[in-house]
Amino acid sequence: MPETPEQFYARVLAQADEQGRLPIPEQAMWEIFPFEPGSLIVKPLEAPVLPEPPRAGEGGLPCWRCANPDDGVVWANERWVLTGFAEALGLPFAALLMPRAHLDLGDLDDTMAAELGVIAVRVTRAVEALDGIGRVHVNKWGDGGAHLHVFLLGRPAGLVQLRGSCLTLWEEMLPRTPPHLTDETLQVAVDALADLGAPATG
Ligand SMILES: [Zn+2]
Repeated sequence: MPETPEQFYARVLAQADEQGRLPIPEQAMWEIFPFEPGSLIVKPLEAPVLPEPPRAGEGGLPCWRCANPDDGVVWANERWVLTGFAEALGLPFAALLMPRAHLDLGDLDDTMAAELGVIAVRVTRAVEALDGIGRVHVNKWGDGGAHLHVFLLGRPAGLVQLRGSCLTLWEEMLPRTPPHLTDETLQVAVDALADLGAPATG
């Protein structure tokens, strides 16, 4: 079983320096890490916050997606929507897959869980088949919002330094991809879901 938050924090803090800073991680030595290791200062580790602050869409806080259910939708069926991003990103492909209902990942019944898998696999397969895409990554964090939002992120082909878990750090440093290019790539994802729902008409 996991330690209590206090036990975890006390054990970890005992390994930190007098300012509460942990050692530079091994990841900083990886070739995919975007910063020079010698340039880094680790932030002091903060104590647990319990209970955790509510995310958007819980604890009385509004849910933006439930208030704007059709915003940015490029494909939908009765239970799911696929959207692009309101602001251009630095990647050649980026989409969000979300349930229409206000559900988190652990709230999905087996039917919706299976649908999530089918949709994510369909989009991944279609977009990864494009010459300009190295790989599509599927990510779920959900620490900011309670309404499930699964990130589908395409890495530009050949940019091997952008592989793996540091992709989102690199993304913010890349110049924005021209919207007409990301729109075309998003359409490939929509086409891959054609028999599971419908493209958004608005
Ligand atoms: Zn919601």
